[in-house]
Amino acid sequence: MPVSINPATGEQLATYPLHTADDVDVRLSEAVLAQREWRREPTEVRCRLLSRLAGELRADRERFARAISQEMGKPVGEARAEVDKSVWALEYYAAGAERFLAFEPIESAAATSGVTFEPLGVVLAIMPWNYPFWQFFRFAAPALAAGNGAVLKHASNVSGCALLLEEIYRRAGGPQGLFSVVRVEPGDVAGLIADERIAAVALTGSSEVGAVVAAHAGGALKKQVLELGGSDPFIVLADADIGAAARAAVAARFTANGQSCVNAKRFLVEADVADEFVGLFVAGARKLTLGDPLDEATTIGPLARADLRTTLHDQVRRSVAAGAVVRIGGQVPDRPGFYYPPTILDAVTADQPVFTEETFGPVAAVTRVADAEEAVALANATQFGLGAALWTADIDRARELVSRIDAGAVFVNGQVASDPRLPFGGIKRSGYGRELGSYGIREFVNIKTVWIG
Ligand code: NAP
Repeated sequence: MPVSINPATGEQLATYPLHTADDVDVRLSEAVLAQREWRREPTEVRCRLLSRLAGELRADRERFARAISQEMGKPVGEARAEVDKSVWALEYYAAGAERFLAFEPIESAAATSGVTFEPLGVVLAIMPWNYPFWQFFRFAAPALAAGNGAVLKHASNVSGCALLLEEIYRRAGGPQGLFSVVRVEPGDVAGLIADERIAAVALTGSSEVGAVVAAHAGGALKKQVLELGGSDPFIVLADADIGAAARAAVAARFTANGQSCVNAKRFLVEADVADEFVGLFVAGARKLTLGDPLDEATTIGPLARADLRTTLHDQVRRSVAAGAVVRIGGQVPDRPGFYYPPTILDAVTADQPVFTEETFGPVAAVTRVADAEEAVALANATQFGLGAALWTADIDRARELVSRIDAGAVFVNGQVASDPRLPFGGIKRSGYGRELGSYGIREFVNIKTVWIG
């Protein structure tokens, strides 16, 4: 049964009964019926629902932010920013969907020809706990605007947030049944994917679960978008503004308690500036305040679950045993809750666990490199390909290096972050397909060719 545990204390907040097979059956059937009506509504009408959802989020921002913090542990200021960003995505698509979905004329032998963008049907969304509101709205805003329905299987530790999402939808006056939550065991997801009432699948989660979901969706020949794990490189070349790079490094690694897919995880620093960079990075990390996520002074909360901390600490211990040097952190604090301190490991080599595996928590791996060539080679020496950051004063050289970095996004002199206007997604084991921007809204659509002689 899904259980919510306050990660700041380890105490149980609530339990949520699983839906029965009959409950799920009703929800899927209602979604199909509602979507048949919804797809016939003009895009403008569908966009009005997005605006109302944004309004509901704004109206109760504080309650939602506190619920996020309490259930998964991020500092409440960051949770407010998550609610605000969800509003941004909803308003972005409310304003832009008509343009993105308009008939696109294409010249051919016909008098008129081109493409229309039509919905696929009801999309199953399988979502993680790290941004329990944002991940959902990032998927749902374009999916609903395009005329699809949505059934959400949320991560079980944020079932309270999932209930709030249903409440927000209800209060916004969304069509009955077009969106609903199903509380099912992970083992039941295969049956949902195979169900003929589900047209497509969106997953944001780990690469391991991605491979399982992809196999099921592939077997059922259903469209899927997979937003999976990452081990983003953060390259610092010798000509970079080292102070700015180090400040950005602190935010890039420790935002969301280090539990974001696009947190920078591997810091590849040219040897000439490595001591200066590491010194500033450690000084910045030392200023972070570990504590109760509901306390406004806190900048690092606990990890979301006890098992995540065990895994993270094990990665640190194995890397230190293999030669990594602890510059700060690296010890499990003696206090209730699932806290882990900001940790920076230096002298990390490409065969250590903190380099080869995704570290989902506040652990930075610093590797000193001889030059830009080695930095790019090591940046690409990973099974992941989500984001990458590159710090240099030479923008011409940056453009050339960008084209050689294997990632879904490269940010030069900035921190990798999603933006509703820009497409977001990965390559390699970070997944496929794109969310956000005009590309995101065209994933769950039938690109229908129309030819009129
Ligand atoms: P997770 O363990 O992969 O879980 C994600 C979702 O999949 C949850 O709803 C989970 O449900 C469900 N699930 C688990 N096992 C399943 C199975 N066998 N079949 C179908 N569904 C299953 O990931 P997480 O721990 O929640 O999130 C962290 C991961 O997500 C990290 O790897 C992170 O990098 C990645 N992520 C990627 C992005 C991106 O945009 N690329 C964004 C955020 C996070 P239960 O909770 O019930 O197990």
